[in-house]
Amino acid sequence: MTQTAQSDDQQDPIVIVGTGLAGYTVARELRKLDAETSVLIVSRDDGRFYSKPALSNALATRTAPHDLARFDAQAMAQQLNARVWTHRQVERIVAHEHAIVVDGQRLRYRALVLATGADPRRVPVDGDGAADVLSINDLGDYSRFRERLAACRSVALLGAGLIGCEFANDLLAANYAVTLIDPAPVPLARLLPPEAGEAFASALAAAGVDMRLGRGVQSIVRRDEGYRLTLSDDSTLDADLVVSAIGLAPRTSLASAAGLQIEGGIATDAWCRTSAPDVYALGDCAAIEGRVQPYVLPIMHAARALAQTLSGTLTRVAFPVMPIVVKTPAVPAVVVTPDGQQGRWSVEAGTHDSAHAVRAICADDATQRMSGFALLGAAIAEKAALLKAMSTGG
Ligand SMILES: Cc1cc2nc3c(=O)[nH]c(=O)nc-3n(C[C@H](O)[C@H](O)[C@H](O)COP(=O)(O)OP(=O)(O)OC[C@H]3O[C@@H](n4cnc5c(N)ncnc54)[C@H](O)[C@@H]3O)c2cc1C
Repeated sequence: MTQTAQSDDQQDPIVIVGTGLAGYTVARELRKLDAETSVLIVSRDDGRFYSKPALSNALATRTAPHDLARFDAQAMAQQLNARVWTHRQVERIVAHEHAIVVDGQRLRYRALVLATGADPRRVPVDGDGAADVLSINDLGDYSRFRERLAACRSVALLGAGLIGCEFANDLLAANYAVTLIDPAPVPLARLLPPEAGEAFASALAAAGVDMRLGRGVQSIVRRDEGYRLTLSDDSTLDADLVVSAIGLAPRTSLASAAGLQIEGGIATDAWCRTSAPDVYALGDCAAIEGRVQPYVLPIMHAARALAQTLSGTLTRVAFPVMPIVVKTPAVPAVVVTPDGQQGRWSVEAGTHDSAHAVRAICADDATQRMSGFALLGAAIAEKAALLKAMSTGG
């Protein structure tokens, strides 16, 4: 990665692109260290600050979409002593001039932070209903989902990853009929070893989710007020609403058009530095040292380190052991995925005298040390002990 170079003019602002968790957290952490430097935050959305993880349990908590936003852009600008430009799209980065182009206007930066998030991936399916499929990755999407949901009784969810499973459980809690469809044979296939995935699937099925695993969706056609889905095994099902949660693709087009290195996300080194001088990236858009980690904890750690760097103390991002909590009350889960998915899993089911409890431990092939774990149901009580064991090299 390119070494940090100074902009000619220290009067130019630090510009942050994005008002999601990553963008706002960098600004907040920076203000703890530096009250003075001019900060400009530019977002193509309305700049409201909200907790994105709360989108997938807002039905159970009976929270309306407008109550999910804690502060509007004006309140954030005041809190952060920053300018916040909303509904403004950064169109281009002119890295050699330390400038961005917003609405055709060129604006110089002293440092540029890309926190542009990710786009939902779309399922390639046939049928006149395919274009009506919703994805939920921000507050605007969520408001549209809740509006559509008001007239529905049944929902088909495409994708049994973390977000699909959480929405399935949340919809169930609000008495919707839910079908969860995924070509993988088990849910949470990227997080859990297969035996744990099977136990997780059984628990969701027992709670009332219609699990259609090992099958993709071929077509979605409009039918009466809803949709008919045909799956890859030629089975069909009807639903009033179809929601896709098949994953996210880091938003890299702005960075790649400017010639920045892309490696699955905007490539950075361990200091969040991209391949262009004074341009940094973090959050769902970034691949920090080759890893995209689209979760809250990695973003918080990266934001703290980057704020130090922006305030003049070059600071490496040090990620501790970071558990992923799956918000599915029917079968709560906590996972630490092994680095590079390597290691040997040993899985114990039915622990803690509970039907859906599973304790799975991954041991590194070479050292035999614990390199990850997955706990389901009542076994999540062991989270703190296992985290401690991992952090101390147990
Ligand atoms: C439903 C759901 C539930 C989740 N639950 C959990 C959970 O329980 N635990 C967990 O750890 N993680 C969870 N996550 C993931 C976590 O919420 C995200 O990793 C995190 O919120 C991403 O923040 P971000 O700032 O990187 O991206 P975003 O929040 O997507 O922000 C991107 C910002 O960039 C702006 N932008 C993009 N391009 C431009 C441009 N060209 N010009 C100007 N502005 C631009 C956008 O307007 C937006 O403000 C969940 C995610 C979802 C969708």
